[in-house]
Amino acid sequence: MHTTTGSDPGQYAAEMGADAKTSAASPGTPAGDAFAVPGFDAVVRLASRSLGVPLVSLVLNGGTAYWFANGNALPAHDPRTLHPLYLEAARSLTSHVVLDTLQDERFRDATLGLAVSPAPIRFFASEPVCTLTGQQIGALCVMDTSPREALTESEQTALRDAASLVGAGVVLRSYLGRTDPITQLPHRYAFFDDLRRHLHDRAPHAWVIAIDVAPVQRFNAFIRAMGHAYADELMRAVASRTLGWIPPDTRLYQVGTTRFAAVLRDHHVLTDTTRLDDLVARLREPFDCLGIPLTIQPGVGLVRIDASELRGGDPLRLVMNASHAAQHSMRGWAVYDRHQDEQHRQEFFLVTELAAALTDRTELDLHYQPRVDLDSGRCVALEALARWHHPTLGPIPPGQFIGLAERAGLMRSLTQWVLEHGVAQLAAWRREGHDIKLSINVSSTDLGADLVGRVQQVAEQHKVGLDMLELEFTESTLIEHSATTRRHLTALRQLGAGIAIDDFGTGYSNLAALRQMPATSLKIDQSFVRGMGTSQHDEAIVRSVAELARNMGFRVVVEGVETPQLYDSVLGMACDEAQGFHIARPMPSAELPAWLAAHPGMPARRWSRYTRV
Ligand code: C2E
Ligand code: MG
Ligand code: MG
Repeated sequence: MHTTTGSDPGQYAAEMGADAKTSAASPGTPAGDAFAVPGFDAVVRLASRSLGVPLVSLVLNGGTAYWFANGNALPAHDPRTLHPLYLEAARSLTSHVVLDTLQDERFRDATLGLAVSPAPIRFFASEPVCTLTGQQIGALCVMDTSPREALTESEQTALRDAASLVGAGVVLRSYLGRTDPITQLPHRYAFFDDLRRHLHDRAPHAWVIAIDVAPVQRFNAFIRAMGHAYADELMRAVASRTLGWIPPDTRLYQVGTTRFAAVLRDHHVLTDTTRLDDLVARLREPFDCLGIPLTIQPGVGLVRIDASELRGGDPLRLVMNASHAAQHSMRGWAVYDRHQDEQHRQEFFLVTELAAALTDRTELDLHYQPRVDLDSGRCVALEALARWHHPTLGPIPPGQFIGLAERAGLMRSLTQWVLEHGVAQLAAWRREGHDIKLSINVSSTDLGADLVGRVQQVAEQHKVGLDMLELEFTESTLIEHSATTRRHLTALRQLGAGIAIDDFGTGYSNLAALRQMPATSLKIDQSFVRGMGTSQHDEAIVRSVAELARNMGFRVVVEGVETPQLYDSVLGMACDEAQGFHIARPMPSAELPAWLAAHPGMPARRWSRYTRV
């Protein structure tokens, strides 16, 4: 550890450790700034007088220290060694009292010396300094060259009061001086002021770079596990590394809890992108955070801002889009993409609309598509397919809103709605004498522990046997899931429900995986079925998959039967059921009874080796 001299007359800063580079002389740092906490001098005098000590010091947990003797800021001083106790005090949430350093084993090897004071320090006490929001930023230390017998209660109170006054002052300074209390970097308002000035005085446009440290959820999990002290330390370390990268005439700002930004003077980083690769590589190196090595998931975003975009615009929102996308990319940096942003906005809008539709429920509907048994030509089952009719956007295809619901965590409510409506409708039709089953699509996010209970509860409520229901999971959902999932699916099967592997052929399951799936039926994806008319390959695929699946004990369903020719072809294969536009398109519930009446039997298979016996 070493200390360096602050440039401000009358004070000197002690810096320790690599991360203290944050406060090295750089445009984005406070080095050279006086510790201009409002009323700080008065607090120092107060502490000095009420405790009767000649020396007072404020040590920030980043390593910077400010010293006062007899109420006056100390003159600039040569670098010297700072005893570890200072840093320990600055980073712990408890107070420290050493009545006589000669009696304390921590000082056996090193005295708590201070070059300004001719005699070594014999008495030391400290109190943590916290901001109003509880973040610890350092410690207020009082020292004397004579030992003490005791620290009285009123003295302890005086020290505690002084420390909390400093804490309040630091927060005040951070508002007035527009700096972040943890990294000491200028914050968001300063960034906007400077960006505005840059665009006004210097250039018609500017390149803004943003550095995201970690996805918010990951960062919060990190804080929960490690505590704020580590998070603060990490942010200081990231700031320090970034400062080592940005051009020397560029300020770094802390614009969010886990986000930094800078205005680049020119676009050289884009003409030579190895500079950006270098920044990402530096940030991906592990950080030593209070002795623990940590790796972050950085995302570096860039956006070109024109002067006209500042009015009413939010450049940080734009660049955040890029840094967020970059966090999940291999390269680690990305330039703002207006088209992608539009998509995000649209998606966000749709998510809120879908959430509203799920509570209001007048915009959602279920359509039903018949499935025909090829041995009898009879409709034996219906697939329930969700429909969303938005009042202004019109019908939104399930291909769009199902994925959205999955990403936004709305799938559980959507499936619940489909279950309740579908099963109620099935019960009504069965009461009317239609001997049909219902299949419902279930997404991977539904595969939680309560799915079994939910299906059971809805079936009981409508007095429908579980053997009248089938749940369709896509092939990839079934493949990706664990032993627990398999247990839930087996439980559903044991209760009598069917389990279908939907869209088979679009995933990458091998035969061994297929054998392990606790499914009862397999639906061959419509892309192969539709290709059958034109591609011999597709015909061979459907034929052999059907044969194989049936031999493995699955009931085989072919989707996407669009023409009479395709229907005829599948009659000659090991298929049990067909579904597709040739038979019927998905239809609203009101149209179904008429359809059933008009289609008592589709062409059925003549007795063949594919007939089920
Ligand atoms: P899926 O489960 O494979 O459903 C079959 C899809 O193929 C339906 O599209 C249906 O309208 C369409 N289809 C049926 N026969 C033919 C045909 O002969 N030709 C063509 N070109 N298409 C045909 P839809 O209704 O647009 O649904 C698309 C997908 O969205 C569904 O694929 C399913 O994965 C998902 N989905 C729909 N409703 C729900 C739901 O309530 N929950 C969940 N989790 N997913 C749903
Ligand atoms: Mg399906
Ligand atoms: Mg399908």
